[in-house]
Amino acid sequence: MPSERPQFPSINAYRGRFAPSPSGLLHFGSLIAALASFLDAKSFVSANGNSGKWLVRIEDIDPPREQVGASSAILTTLEAFGLHWDESVLYQSQQSEIYQDTLSDLQQQNRSYYCQCTRAEIKTLGGIYQGHCRTLNHSKYNSAIRLINQYGLYQFNDVFQGKVDCQQALAKEDFIIHRKDGLFAYQLAVVVDDIYQNINHVIRGCDLLEPTARQLTLFATLNSPAPEYGHVPLAVTTNGYKLSKQNKAPSINNNNPQPALIAALIFLGQAPDPKLVNENVDDIICWAINHWSRDKVTKVKEINIE
Ligand code: GLU
Ligand code: ZN
Repeated sequence: MPSERPQFPSINAYRGRFAPSPSGLLHFGSLIAALASFLDAKSFVSANGNSGKWLVRIEDIDPPREQVGASSAILTTLEAFGLHWDESVLYQSQQSEIYQDTLSDLQQQNRSYYCQCTRAEIKTLGGIYQGHCRTLNHSKYNSAIRLINQYGLYQFNDVFQGKVDCQQALAKEDFIIHRKDGLFAYQLAVVVDDIYQNINHVIRGCDLLEPTARQLTLFATLNSPAPEYGHVPLAVTTNGYKLSKQNKAPSINNNNPQPALIAALIFLGQAPDPKLVNENVDDIICWAINHWSRDKVTKVKEINIE
């Protein structure tokens, strides 16, 4: 275990997680987020010598966007890449009851309201939701549920990016926590689960920088301490698109994980010895844990990988 890593005086147990949505297979962009969150957890050393725990949560709360077989394919890929998780995998599809309880509590405490505005209506009103339905007392039918955003938190200290200022107007919006189509919103589910799993470190890609503001507000509303956040650069292609399932980034090869693993370490600024590519996966991961340095991660939001 590395010794140069500073210990957090207030935290004796690091709990991090990787939370993929099964809308497609793991791609190079999600491998980077998985690897960064894994290495940050596993290189942590607590006062009594324990490394951090790294959990995997499958965010399968949006059935229409789900790809059949993706959940198990993602898990198989993580294992092939030597990213072994602690505890059992949590599936958001199993968590409806706890989301509903949280939602009911928020409703009882008058921290939310029904909204019937359509996307088009909000767009004509300038794109930022101004609380139009706050006092209209709509019924639950054909309504979304919005959080009364009493904190509007928009600043935080990011492990990699330093001081981050999110867009204030968006951060202060009464955002949706339960969708009109009956599904729980990502913001609600992710925060409820981070609390449920006692997560104190969230390391992920810069595509989720802006949502962090809303999540901080939800933690405050739910009277829960927020985790530390760290956002690593996003891998983008020449045309500026985020590498994602949508633009058909090549899926990574479970039978030959070394090259992608080394490429991901280079992307994260960890400067692995190129010869490591000839080692087995567990040795590469072991090297990466021992050499993980937050300071080496490039402080930009995007890196072009073509
Ligand atoms: N499920 C989200 C995604 O795949 C990530 C959630 C998170 O890391 O907070 O984009
Ligand atoms: Zn409305």
